[in-house]
Amino acid sequence: MKDIEIAQQSEMLPIVEVAKKAGLSEQEIEQYGQYKAKIKLPLADRPKTKEKLILVTAVNPTPAGEGKSTVTVGLGDALSLAGKKTMIALREPSLGPVMGMKGGATGGGYSQVVPMEDINLHFTGDMHALTTANNTLAALIDNHIYQGNKLGIDQRRVIWKRVLDINDRALRHVVIGLGGVVQGIPREDGFDITVASEMMAILCLAKDIADLKKRLGQIVIGYTFTKEPVTVDDLGVTGAIALLLKDALKPNLVQTLAHTPAIIHGGPFANIAHGCNSVLATKTALQLADYTITEAGFGADLGAEKFLDIKVPQLGKAPNTIVIVATVRALKMNGGVAKDQLDHEDLVALEKGFANLKRHIQSMKQYDIPVVVAINKFTADTSAELDLLVELCAKEDTTAVVADVWAKGGAGAKELAQAVIASCDQVTEPKRLYAADDSVEDKIKQIVTKIYGGKDVEFSPKALRQLSEFKTLGWDKLPVCMAKTQYSLSDDPKLLGAPTDFTIHVREFVPKLGAGFIVALTGNVLTMPGLPKVPAAMGMDLADDGTITGLY
Ligand code: ADP
Repeated sequence: MKDIEIAQQSEMLPIVEVAKKAGLSEQEIEQYGQYKAKIKLPLADRPKTKEKLILVTAVNPTPAGEGKSTVTVGLGDALSLAGKKTMIALREPSLGPVMGMKGGATGGGYSQVVPMEDINLHFTGDMHALTTANNTLAALIDNHIYQGNKLGIDQRRVIWKRVLDINDRALRHVVIGLGGVVQGIPREDGFDITVASEMMAILCLAKDIADLKKRLGQIVIGYTFTKEPVTVDDLGVTGAIALLLKDALKPNLVQTLAHTPAIIHGGPFANIAHGCNSVLATKTALQLADYTITEAGFGADLGAEKFLDIKVPQLGKAPNTIVIVATVRALKMNGGVAKDQLDHEDLVALEKGFANLKRHIQSMKQYDIPVVVAINKFTADTSAELDLLVELCAKEDTTAVVADVWAKGGAGAKELAQAVIASCDQVTEPKRLYAADDSVEDKIKQIVTKIYGGKDVEFSPKALRQLSEFKTLGWDKLPVCMAKTQYSLSDDPKLLGAPTDFTIHVREFVPKLGAGFIVALTGNVLTMPGLPKVPAAMGMDLADDGTITGLY
């Protein structure tokens, strides 16, 4: 059965019941229909929970699929089954991949969050609010320039782009203000996808409304003719942008197929943004549940590194356990097997491709946080392959457990849940990868050598010029958000496995002062994706009775 069919046949609990399970009263939520709600913050004080935080990450993604969200949901249901007070905290799907490569992003099989159609489409409107806030600011900037430009903004140095939550390569570079004197000042502009925007990063990192406003006010939208940065506070529109995000800032409550409460809030991509759900969502889950399971996008080199180096300092809490999701299929692909040959047993390729998982295990252990490997079982996996993978992990002193959550839901992850509970009971002193006052350059070098396993970093002449400007502006010690291909540990998407001796090429930086980090664009990574030759949209339909098909 398809994911969407399983979801459509499920019986959901009214959201008030789910809220009650989570320990939230009817007054603490705002209902969006029968099955979705926003949580009103701040929550009233309540008894302290165990506050165990579990971060789910993965090996580098391949077209064979890894199933991070599927395992996150399955593990959450398994912990609930084991009688633990559990909450799941996931990211909101972007319409870019929904219509493009992937279809839905709400887990799969019998480990899903529902209502999956709503979550994958317009949900509670957060993406629209973010897009509108972003583009309102863009319009206010162009209006300021048109209406006399009191701040002296150099229209060639506006760095604030417009956004859309759609993969649309034709909008990467545009010229606006054409058509004559009354149409505005012509200038080059471009669109990013909403989930790569600074607005999204700010929503995900803000601690409350005051912090949201502080961050919005600090956004640098461009530079004056004398090269001074111009902020949203300088434009005097911080309040207007903040009120557009008033409701989007509140975490969204839904449920899994097994009725475990799940918060879905904020969805930055992990390759071109910081890849984690909101600090507010994670904090809320920690306040309500003993076990909070959250996920960060793509492989551990991207999502998990950013979770640990960007989100954790804002959250004020490191994970108690990191779960790395791996599949036999993905590792065989990393070991050189073609996609159409993955259903055949191949122990040699599996052992070769294990190098990718091994690199991620080692890089995550540097943070002194316990690691558990979850092997997401596919039907074609043989027991010899699964046994070998467990054995290879054991050689790395790491527990690996086979989870069959796609086919069996929480019942397929009983053993994984026990391993995670035991792992969370370990007492550790999590370490940072880099010191807060290391320079941007040093931070990048440490990420490349310690996490990616690379040798060196090469900065383009433009990037070097920017680094020296950052020094003058006092931005040279901010955290770094790497923008890199998700497919490889290097910046070359074709280099699978665990490459060594490679150099990462930083072509440009984008300062995001509201988010509080500097984005480093590496290789050819793009902040507005394109649609593939056969987009997922081609298989979608809406029947006359309103039933949706093809969202996977
Ligand atoms: P990720 O979070 O890593 O992007 P998802 O959990 O969204 O991955 O899963 C991607 C797709 O793979 C979904 O359509 C899901 O149904 C499918 N999938 C995940 N795990 C399995 C599995 N064990 N067997 C078959 N299909 C799976």
